[in-house]
Amino acid sequence: MLSRSIPCLWITFCLHLCCFVDGGDAQNAKEVILLDSKAQQTELEWISYPPNGWEEISGLDENYTPIRTYQVCQVMEPNQNNWLRTNWIEKGDAQRIFVELKFTLRDCNSLPGVVGTCKETFNLYYQETDSEVGRSLRENQYVKIDTIAADESFTQGDLGERKMKLNTELRIIGPLSRRGFYLAFQDVGACIALVSVKVYYKKCWSIIENLATFPDTVTGSEFSSLVEVEGMCVSDAEEEADNSPKMHCSAEGEWLVPIGKCICRAGFHQKGDACEPCGRGFYKSSSQDLQCSRCPAHSFNDREGSWRCDCEDGYYRALSDPPSVACTRPPSAPQNLVYNINQTTVSLEWSPPADTGGRNDVTYRVICRRCSWEPEECVPCGPNVGFSPAQSGLVDTYVTIVDLLAHANYTFEVEAVNGVSDLSRTQRLFAAVSIATGQAAPSQVSEVIKEKVQQRSVQLSWQEPQQPNGVITEYEIKYYEKDQSQKDRIYSTVRSKSTSATVNNLKPSTAYVFQIRAFTEAGYGTYGPRVEITTKEENTATIVSSEQNPVIIIAVVAVAGTIILVFMVFGFIIGRRHCGYSKADQEGDEELYFQFKFPGTKTYIDPETYEDPNRAVHQFAKELDASCIKIERVIGAGEFGEVCSGRLKLPGKRDVSVAIKTLKVGYTEKQRRDFLCEASIMGQFDHPNVVHLEGVVTRGKPVMIVIEYMENGSLDAFLRKHDGQFTVIQLVGMLRGIAAGMRYLSDMGYVHRDLAARNILVNSNLVCKVSDFGLSRVIDDDPEAVYTTTGGKIPVRWTAPEAIQYRKFTSASDVWSYGIVMWEVMSYGERPYWDMSNQDVIKAIEEGYRLPAPMDCPPGLHQLMLDCWQKDRAERPKFDQIVGILDKMIRNPNTLKTPVGTCTRPISPLLDQSTPDFTAFRSVGEWLEAIKMERYRDNFTAAGYSSLESVARMSIEDVMRLGITLVGHQKKIMSSIQTTRAQMLHLHGTGVQV
Ligand code: AMP
Repeated sequence: MLSRSIPCLWITFCLHLCCFVDGGDAQNAKEVILLDSKAQQTELEWISYPPNGWEEISGLDENYTPIRTYQVCQVMEPNQNNWLRTNWIEKGDAQRIFVELKFTLRDCNSLPGVVGTCKETFNLYYQETDSEVGRSLRENQYVKIDTIAADESFTQGDLGERKMKLNTELRIIGPLSRRGFYLAFQDVGACIALVSVKVYYKKCWSIIENLATFPDTVTGSEFSSLVEVEGMCVSDAEEEADNSPKMHCSAEGEWLVPIGKCICRAGFHQKGDACEPCGRGFYKSSSQDLQCSRCPAHSFNDREGSWRCDCEDGYYRALSDPPSVACTRPPSAPQNLVYNINQTTVSLEWSPPADTGGRNDVTYRVICRRCSWEPEECVPCGPNVGFSPAQSGLVDTYVTIVDLLAHANYTFEVEAVNGVSDLSRTQRLFAAVSIATGQAAPSQVSEVIKEKVQQRSVQLSWQEPQQPNGVITEYEIKYYEKDQSQKDRIYSTVRSKSTSATVNNLKPSTAYVFQIRAFTEAGYGTYGPRVEITTKEENTATIVSSEQNPVIIIAVVAVAGTIILVFMVFGFIIGRRHCGYSKADQEGDEELYFQFKFPGTKTYIDPETYEDPNRAVHQFAKELDASCIKIERVIGAGEFGEVCSGRLKLPGKRDVSVAIKTLKVGYTEKQRRDFLCEASIMGQFDHPNVVHLEGVVTRGKPVMIVIEYMENGSLDAFLRKHDGQFTVIQLVGMLRGIAAGMRYLSDMGYVHRDLAARNILVNSNLVCKVSDFGLSRVIDDDPEAVYTTTGGKIPVRWTAPEAIQYRKFTSASDVWSYGIVMWEVMSYGERPYWDMSNQDVIKAIEEGYRLPAPMDCPPGLHQLMLDCWQKDRAERPKFDQIVGILDKMIRNPNTLKTPVGTCTRPISPLLDQSTPDFTAFRSVGEWLEAIKMERYRDNFTAAGYSSLESVARMSIEDVMRLGITLVGHQKKIMSSIQTTRAQMLHLHGTGVQV
């Protein structure tokens, strides 16, 4: 027993005095302790076997904290096998267990008499089990971990120096598969004090990295293994796209290799490891943005955590606008819209809007409407109208509109739009112009039918073009041999006045190409598609080839040529006598064009020169079958009976609207003759600006004259109805038409004698046509005609002085009347010379007075009127010249601009009445009545213009602000205001400051 007491002494001594305890034993943050013998103050109660082996002994550490130790020191006796087993250690999540042993070991050499029995190592074991297995110890169930040797052992001398060394050994076990395990220490004869046993495993502790939370994670089982862990975004954060947060937990319990991240979602920004909402007045539109930003211009928010700011009233954000851009609004209207008309093509040009709404994506769109002459009745232009470069999405400030109808009234609205225009519910802002198109050539003749194909002739028929744009006076058929090379190709043409023609003198068995185009006053249309026709094979029995018998061919050609020449000359003479062609025979009428042509102009033939008036009618007018005419309604009363509208459907032709003049029942023979006389005259004319006769019904009752239908009736009433509603260009377009019709009539030698706006008819396209051709009509029919001292009945106000005085009616007197028509047109149907008596008119004209320019009349036009009213008729322009002058004006609309205030001012009592000024009126209402604008009385009152003085200060903008939208009315009112200003200046020497 003595031998056993020795070690006990030094160990006890040592434990009390030595500084061997691990002073830096603060728990490592990565470790999870499963067993720490030092931490236990009560008895450990491990199993020791045999009972005299390991002994549990209490001690104190350097802090004098009591600790539990196990000691053994059976060094004197051989064959020691002392086991010490820990309690069951539940491993938890652990896979890889760290065992840290701290112990002291006595150097055998320092012990006398122990050679052979003393050992300096001990063995470490473990046993895995799923639960505690009782207190018996079976060696063979243990797995050896290692033999543990001391790095440092101590001797007796060390004790004196208090230099006893504490050994620390670390061993790792795993991977473990059972729920727990035991550790066992086998002593085979050493002198050991087991000061501390610590069993632990390592964990990566939960952290927040890149706004992702990574949970506590137990390290992997292998030294080299990395455990991949998915992070969870902190609240109000989201994973970055395709970059979910991950980290790797190393065997050492350290987080390694962070991948991906979380980012604060829209409306939140990062503060430390959390996401906080953006403050009021700030926003963050996307998780990608780092910071909250202040709301952009014209936007606001009053909530925290906003991803965007709301737009202020009247401001918008386009769908494509990022929340970072300012809110914007629709642009204002384009400015300075100007147009140019070339027949049926209109070009518009404008300046950008003054306010783009704060955006730079302004484009333009054009809205096209075709309007009837009632301003309210406008319809969209439809798909047939072309826009170049486009109708909408225009980047540049111009557009060309093509394929408009001829002589039609259009309104174009140009609107500036930007990315937010469609979001706005405010009123559309646009610039608008109303335009009347001019004349245009007919559209293509496309539907050509081969009626009959012979050896030497081809008979063709076709449909009138879709858009004749006027009266088609002729078709031209162009043809050539298909096989001729382009270089040698000879084109021939045949003309026809109807929609069919036979082309003769063709070669048999030859392929020909035909193309047809239509002709109107406006010129030729484009050729239709090529039609290929091969003539029939030659009949060898009757035809002699030219090679076989040239003499016969020459003879045939000579005879044929002679016949044609004779026919032509004869036709020419007949034509002169019978004024051109016979309408009754004109179906299929064609002329073959060689090197020469018939002299063009036909001459008017006075039907009275015919002994038999019936013959005259049938010479010039086509007899219609009454069954082709459908009378629809009565539209007026003529001298001889009712005037009706209806439809005429001729075989093979489209049905057309017609006016039908009827001869009332119980007529006398003279009345019948006079009635049909108009047809005999009208039937001789064929011009787009002269009313066209369709035919007559004389072989049935009632006797009828069928005329093309003119939807808008007579010009004077039409203008009065649409007072102020046309542009100057439109008015000049009407005048040009009338002049062209008169040029044609005068070229034919026809003197009208009663040219006046009431005798001009207007169709739906605003084309004006000269009508009223009765011989005796001037005397009997015209209510304006009065008896003059020279005996005739004459419409004094329209008639030239020489015609009034000595009945000298000529085309030059028609020119005088034309000047009056110009004045009527430019004053929207005002009565020439107002309420002056006929006598006063005659006197005033004789004294040199002339009508002044109507309100807002371009000076050039008034000059032309004055030229028409030259006393010396030889000085007056010819209709040909008038057409030329008007054409020039239409081509250069600038010449038609009326410089404000430069219109001819009153220079004589006669002229005073042209531009009523309001110095003579007592109230605004009286003045408005005088200028026929009383409909705007309420507008003036509502806007506070109660005195004439306040009215005199108005500008055009003021007038527009009253809600007066018709340009003609604006001009009329402004013109009167300006005249007044001038008058005031003149009368009082004081101006009205504007
Ligand atoms: P007139 O006998 O030619 O003076 O015609 C009497 C009225 O009938 C005219 O004032 C017109 O209003 C109307 N009228 C005459 N011819 C036509 C026509 N071709 N188309 C439409 N209305 C017509």
